[in-house]
Amino acid sequence: MFKKIEHIGIAVKSASASVELFSKLFNSQPYKTETVESENVNTIFFQLGPNKIELLEATSPESAITKFIEKKGEGIHHIAYDVENIIDEMKRLKQEGFVFINNEPKHGADNKLIAFMHPKSTNGVLIELCQEIK
Ligand code: ZN
Repeated sequence: MFKKIEHIGIAVKSASASVELFSKLFNSQPYKTETVESENVNTIFFQLGPNKIELLEATSPESAITKFIEKKGEGIHHIAYDVENIIDEMKRLKQEGFVFINNEPKHGADNKLIAFMHPKSTNGVLIELCQEIK
C-alpha cells in the first residue's frame, strides 16, 4: 500500500550553496545530512510539517546525480512514496509491468529500505519507494 509522499528529491550542484538557499526559503535548518556511499551522494533533509525535502549532491562523477544535472540541470529529481511493505509493493508493480532500476530493495538515506523505478515506465517521473526500517 502507498501511504503518502515521503519526500521530494532535488538535485543540486553544491550542497553548501543550496542549504543556504533552502534554509532562507523555508526559514529553517536541515535536520539531517547523510552521505550514502553506495549511491555517491550527500543527502540533506528538511522537515516542513509532515513533508520532507531531500537535497542530493553528487560526491563523484560516477554519481547518478552528476549525470542527471549534466542532462537536465538542477531541479526536481524524484518523488519518494512511503509504502507499507516494499517487497510486496515491488512484486505487485513488477506484475503490472513496471520496471525497476534496482531489482532488490537497498539501504538508502534516513533509515529506509528503498527501490527506484525506471522513469521510462512511469511517464518520465523517477519514483522511489521507501519503507522505514523499524
Ligand atoms: Zn529520495
